[in-house]
Amino acid sequence: MEHSKTGTRELVIKTAVKVYDTPNMMTKEDQHLLAEAKAAMQDSYSPYSQFKVGAAILLDNGIILRGSNQENAAYSMCICAERVALSTADSQFQGVPVVAIAVTATSKNHDLNKPISPCGACRQAIAESEYKHETAMKIIMQGETGEVYEVASGKDLLPLGFDGSVL
Ligand SMILES: [Zn+2]
Repeated sequence: MEHSKTGTRELVIKTAVKVYDTPNMMTKEDQHLLAEAKAAMQDSYSPYSQFKVGAAILLDNGIILRGSNQENAAYSMCICAERVALSTADSQFQGVPVVAIAVTATSKNHDLNKPISPCGACRQAIAESEYKHETAMKIIMQGETGEVYEVASGKDLLPLGFDGSVL
């Protein structure tokens, strides 16, 4: 890092995203987690957006939990698939770290052939889980078809994130 004479400097934050041309290039374990996320879409309640999202999380004890987006006519009450799954883990498996999450989606309105990524709120929820358990959560992302993105930690998607260490 270079210090300028003016006392200012630029902090460059890099994110490494691993890109798989197809899911079958991933480990069997990760393929299975993504398949669980796709299966979770069946439980999506998305009559307003027609956008079904599925998530599956892998706990450190090997258990996989599914989540899907749940919409509401009062739009602000909609909850994302990722947070449904993470809340299930928090309420049923307290103290067990989440080591990976897979996220996928399908839209009735158009082909979704590029990876989707967690929204800002879900990135914050992932960050909280990582902070709480002092572990990294691998994030696997795919659309309905196409390549798969993978990052090693929620921190990769939420640089300079806010966590409990500053409170
Ligand atoms: Zn979200």
